[in-house]
Parts: sequence; C-alpha cells; structure tokens
Amino acid sequence: MQRHQLFIDGKFSDAASGAWFDTYNPFTGKVWSQVAAGGAADVERAVQAAHRAFTTGVWPALTASQRGALLRRLGDLIARDADKLAQIEVRDNGKLIAEMRGQLNYIPQWFYYFGGLADKIQGAVIPLDKKDYFNFTRHEPLGVVAAITPWNSPLLLTAWKIAPALAAGCTVVLKPSEFTSVSSLEFVKLFEEAGFPPGVVNVVTGYGKDVGTPLVEHPLVRKITFTGSDATGRMINQSAAKQFKRVSLELGGKSPNIVFNDANLEDAVNGAVSGIFAATGQTCIAGSRLLLQDDIHDAFLEKLTALASTARMGDPLDAGTQVGPITTRQQYDKVLGYIDIAKQDGAKLIMGGAPATRAECGNGWFIEPTIFSGVSNRMRIAQEEVFGPILSVIRFKDEEEAVAIANDSAYGLGAGVWTADIGRAFRMSSRIQAGTVWVNTYRAVSYMSPFGGYKDSGTGRENGMDAIHEYLQVKSVWINTGAATGNPFTMR
Ligand code: NAD
Repeated sequence: MQRHQLFIDGKFSDAASGAWFDTYNPFTGKVWSQVAAGGAADVERAVQAAHRAFTTGVWPALTASQRGALLRRLGDLIARDADKLAQIEVRDNGKLIAEMRGQLNYIPQWFYYFGGLADKIQGAVIPLDKKDYFNFTRHEPLGVVAAITPWNSPLLLTAWKIAPALAAGCTVVLKPSEFTSVSSLEFVKLFEEAGFPPGVVNVVTGYGKDVGTPLVEHPLVRKITFTGSDATGRMINQSAAKQFKRVSLELGGKSPNIVFNDANLEDAVNGAVSGIFAATGQTCIAGSRLLLQDDIHDAFLEKLTALASTARMGDPLDAGTQVGPITTRQQYDKVLGYIDIAKQDGAKLIMGGAPATRAECGNGWFIEPTIFSGVSNRMRIAQEEVFGPILSVIRFKDEEEAVAIANDSAYGLGAGVWTADIGRAFRMSSRIQAGTVWVNTYRAVSYMSPFGGYKDSGTGRENGMDAIHEYLQVKSVWINTGAATGNPFTMR
C-alpha cells in the first residue's frame, strides 16, 4: 500500500502522531492509498515554516519578476506531468480522465497568467491636497495564507488559490480535503523542481477538525482562502473574525439554468445536461434547478431525457466514459437521501432515481442521472445543495416569474440563461443575483474572469486581475519634502 507524507519546509515527513488514514478509489470502492493524518503539531510546524519563508531568506528578497518566472516554470512542469497528475486525480476522486486531461492541460495557464501579473502589482502616486508631501501607495503581500480545498476539484481549485497568492508574494499552507489529498501531495513535488525556496508552499493533510481548525486559528496565518460547504465556510468566517483575518470563501450553489421559449432548444438541452450531469453533478456551479418556460416544458423534457439517457457510465479511466462515480461513500448516501426527500415532497421522478447497477459500474458509488419534474421552488430539493446528478425541473410563465424563482435562493453562485432575445439576455444577466451568469452556454470558466458568489455562495473573487488583490494589503507612505515640521498639536 502506497503512503503519502506531509510536505513541510521543503521535506516530506510523517505526521507527528504517526497516524495515517485511508483514501478510497470511488470506482472500486476500495482503499488504494494511505495519507498522513496531520494534527495541530504539524500545523504549527508548517505555519512556522511558511512564516520563516515569508519573512527571511530567499523568497522576500526575490524581485517580483523573479517570482513570476518561478510561477511560469511551475506551469511548464505541470504541463509536462499533466497526464500523471490527471491519472492520480481520477483514481482518488473518480473524476473522468477526459475531464482531467482537459483540466491539467489548462491549469498551467493560471501559473502563466498570475506569473505575468506578479510584476504588475503597482501602487499609485497620490497628487495630494497638501503641500510639501510626497504620498504613494504600496500593495504588500498579506503573509501566510491558509488554503483549504474541497474534494470535488482538488488540483484546479488549488491552482486558483496558490497562483495569485504566490504572485502576490505570500507563502502558503495548503490543506486538501481528507477524501482527495494525494494529487496535492504529488503536485507539491514540482515546486522544488521549479526552484521555489523551502517553506513557500507546505501541505498538511488530515481532517477538518484536526488540521483545518488549528490552521484557521493560528495567529501567524493572515489570510484564509477556502472552498467548500457553506456550513464550514460560516465557521471559518466566525473564527477568522476574532483575529481580523482576511477571508475569501467560495461556497455552495443552487444555480438556476433558465430556458426561454425562443431559445435554441438543442443547445439548451446540451447545456442542461452539461450543467447537472457533467462531473456527476459534483460541482459548485451545477445547474441543479432547470427552469423551463411553460410552452416548451414538455418538448424540452422529452429531448433532455433522450440525451441524458445516452450518458455512458463506467470506469472514469476510460476516455469514453461520460458520467463517473460519486467521490465519497458519504456523498453517495447523501445524494440517495435527497432522492427520497424529493419523492416525499411530491416531486415527480421522470428518470433515474436509484444506484446504477449497470455492469460497467462495478462496485463503484454510482447513481443514475436523475430528473425530477413538477418541482416547486420551495421544496428542499430546490433549495438545498445536493452536489450530485439530480436535476429539479421547475416551470415558469414569463421573465418576471423566472427572475423571482431564480433569486429565491440563499445561494448566488452561477446561472444560465437560454434565449435568442439579446435584450432579454442583458436584462436577465443584470437582474439575476449570482457571481456568474452564462448566456447560451454553461460551465465555462477562465483564469482571466472573476469567479465567486453572491449571498451565501461566498465572498471574495478568484481568477482574473481582481484575485491578486485578495492576497495584498495597501500601505500609504508619506514623505515630508518640506523644511518645517509645523505645529505638533494639530493634524498635518
Ligand atoms: P467541506 O466544507 O466539508 O470541506 C472543505 C474543506 O474544509 C476540506 O478540506 C475539509 O477538511 C475542511 N474543513 C472541514 N471542517 C473544517 C474546519 N472546521 N475548519 C477548517 N477546515 C475545515 O466541503 P466538501 O464537502 O469537501 O466540498 C463540497 C462543497 O464545496 C460543496 O458545498 C460545494 O458547493 C463547495 N464548492 C464550492 C466551490 C466554489 O468555488 N464556490 C467549488 C467547489 C466546491
């Protein structure tokens, strides 16, 4: 059995406790590797290493251009090892090899983009209203960053956090999900090869309460960047507030995918499938509420079920597979529980609704792509994030009602609008309360475009130029260019 150690101060080591935990392959349902079970002592060591690396030695002495060059070199190494990293993620997470190859070939762009941004962090010279002063601003790195990631897209979300944090000049302690830690431990090996000094990036694996809590509470951590559930995000926000730490939170969603009667229905059907069955629905931006205008409702559902029922399920390492397993046994049980809840609340099951028993699914944690129609937006299946291949279909009569239903949610992460009417596209994109609105497409992301939530979907933005400011703080510097110091008892 393979074992994967913690990575602290440039070296791999066992956890202080000497304990390990199992990590499973969701396709076989079996343990495939063990990971070091970190705790508070390991967090202490990692944060001290990150703090040393931030304050002394090579890292703070690098020019911004040199930092950028390191990031770009790292991007090249990720591209070189893309296939190896993709294979690990498939085994540990159950993501499709087809999706992971695409992701791993794209992830280097985060390091090229933010590497390029590193030496474009500029302050300003302020043309003051006061004589005899020269005033300018500096954008300085916040310090040690705690980066906490969920199980559904470990490497992609790690890139979203680490690339801007390092470009800003911060150092990082990464805590991946206990369900999918292995890819981060493999990924971190590339940092040394790229030439990053020890301590700049550290990885402490373990459970939320054992590693996440002491990391969030550590006084030397100055910024927390978290992706995960709203419940954990809320706890982290409260804890961080006690020490006035900067926080960015990328949380859950219950995103509406809205189809008007003038839309290209073939495209919209494709977008509805991509919204909920891609990645087995285990994405924060899943279009889990499909809003259909009355007069296309029945025809649309016919086309949708026809396409969804062709989805090939099976081994995620097979490039032809389209729907893989649920990543964890706990999540599998949770998704099945929501199928029962939807039935009890009166939703009408029109497709799936059970574990997949097809031979290609072996002993994996598979659930059939599932569609409920006749859903009212007040049902739990329409309000709570399921994080699985379960689609709720809701009818609407006009634009007003579509907006009202779309916004009747605690969440506000993403939304899709399908229409041929350009005016409506603009109106809808301004009226929907969500951090991202896609028109006539769904599930598109880029390192260049800001991503984040409205309402309970979180705070702060990843990707794009805005993201780097999440890791910087502004200092104002005043230089007296005059001769006299003035009256000491009045404001200058
Ligand atoms: P989770 O909140 O259970 O865990 C996320 C991470 O937080 C894990 O690493 C976990 O160990 C850690 N953690 C748990 N308790 C902690 C604590 N007390 N202190 C600090 N860290 C702690 O979420 P999950 O089940 O791994 O991920 C699924 C969730 O993530 C879904 O709700 C999904 O919508 C959300 N998500 C959001 C985005 C986004 O960008 N908005 C992207 C992907 C996933």
